Amino acid sequence: MSGPHHLYPELQLFIDGEWISRGSRKTEPVLNPATGEVLGELPHATQADLDRAIAAAQKGFRVWRSFMPEKRGEILRKAAELLKADGERVTTVATLESGKPIAQSRIELHMATEVLEWYAEEGRRAYGRVLPQRQPGTRLLVVKEPIGPVAAFTPWNFPQGNPARKLGAALGAGCSCVLKAAEDTPASAILMAKALQEAGVPDGVVNLVFGVPSEVCPYLLRSGVIRKLSFTGSIPVGKELMKICAERMIRTTMELGGHGPVLVFDDVNLEHVLDLCVTAKCRNGGQVCVSPTRYYIHRSLYAKFVEGFVARIGRVRVGDPLDDTIGMGPLIHARRREAVHALIQEAVQQGATLHTGGESIPGPGFFYRPTVLSDLPDSARIMNEEPFGPVALLNPFDEFDAVVEQANRLPYGLAAFAFTENGKRLKLLGERIETGMLGLNTFAISVPESPFGGVKESGHGSEEGIEGLDACLITKYISEA
Ligand code: NAD
Repeated sequence: MSGPHHLYPELQLFIDGEWISRGSRKTEPVLNPATGEVLGELPHATQADLDRAIAAAQKGFRVWRSFMPEKRGEILRKAAELLKADGERVTTVATLESGKPIAQSRIELHMATEVLEWYAEEGRRAYGRVLPQRQPGTRLLVVKEPIGPVAAFTPWNFPQGNPARKLGAALGAGCSCVLKAAEDTPASAILMAKALQEAGVPDGVVNLVFGVPSEVCPYLLRSGVIRKLSFTGSIPVGKELMKICAERMIRTTMELGGHGPVLVFDDVNLEHVLDLCVTAKCRNGGQVCVSPTRYYIHRSLYAKFVEGFVARIGRVRVGDPLDDTIGMGPLIHARRREAVHALIQEAVQQGATLHTGGESIPGPGFFYRPTVLSDLPDSARIMNEEPFGPVALLNPFDEFDAVVEQANRLPYGLAAFAFTENGKRLKLLGERIETGMLGLNTFAISVPESPFGGVKESGHGSEEGIEGLDACLITKYISEA
């Protein structure tokens, strides 16, 4: 292998402070989605490995919760510094295994380290309260304590950001963690665990395992040790995991899929909004949970919007994600590309107009042309299922109430966006759109201090913000006579 592949680390498990190589374990190849080349062989945890990780997390919890929040924060901040100092390698590795354009991996590293820094600080603010006495000489206290060992399962689309959110929240609150990161992008999680170890996280506090997800995840949850699940991934898997959590009343944070509507009213600066819309659509090849998906454009602008969208998306450079000037890389794997293609074909069969794209790019890797479809019937599968790919769905609307109804039509509610200069409309949209996050005249909807999460079938609970820390804390009431 040539080029930057030498930066890719050995793929290992991390259990109780020990880095574990494949040995005689089963392995699976990790591919570079831009070339199809094998980056490394990922060991699968054996049952004995999982038992060790669970025991380590139980022990690690006792150790870590005894660290004062200030000390825990110091370690988290140090880990963020180490990741930044190693930024070139960390971002190259993320791009090699995820296919995300390198410029976007750099933004993601910034986001991931900011998240660790946020939880480093926020851990010091896990305040309880003292209630007024009912009797002289008594004390009535509300205290916050770390919930216990956390299981965290993350997807591949933000290989640095998702582990940072989960580890940051758990560690900031004083919890230990068993992380099962995505098997497609293990090295980014490995580099994060290494930074945490080097920064001073004690053995057993962070454990990282990989394997067959449908076996590993239930096994961890049924161990009797895990007190909380933080899951980011698809809705069907989230539902299955919730059933398992119900067996032991494990608390859940569920960050699931969406189908982001974008409402464009007739009073906007069209050229500016088009620039924003196309950039947001192509981010990470549309493989973003808050990706804009269904665009509803006021009929008076519709023809111009479609024309402007198609022209702009045609200028997006698709290619080697390590090239700094590239706008879009490949999709994560062949399965994703096939799934997106099948949805597009079905929409065309149902009468949608295909303006551009709709096909794979020949050659190595899993590249797909950015695609624009318009005038889609609601019955098309792609209007109801998350496409998770580089495809924009454009439809016109006439009336405010009707378009709000369209936006709320699906059982998802992760992110929604609207563009208008009209203040009264902005207020009404804020009230009426059923969503966890709403971008008004912007696609920027996430900073570490803001809660990130969905409603309806997009999940429950939030990461980041004060809510993110609270999700890893329990509330205990102490009445002292
Ligand atoms: P996925 O559900 O297939 O995988 C997510 C995680 O669950 C991975 O760790 C995976 O290994 C594990 N997993 C997969 N199948 C499992 C099973 N049967 N049992 C237990 N665990 C299993 O999702 P994905 O394809 O990796 O990611 C894409 C999805 O994630 C999209 O739906 C996207 O919207 C969603 N997502 C949501 C957010 C958010 O914050 N709401 C962020 C990123 C991605």
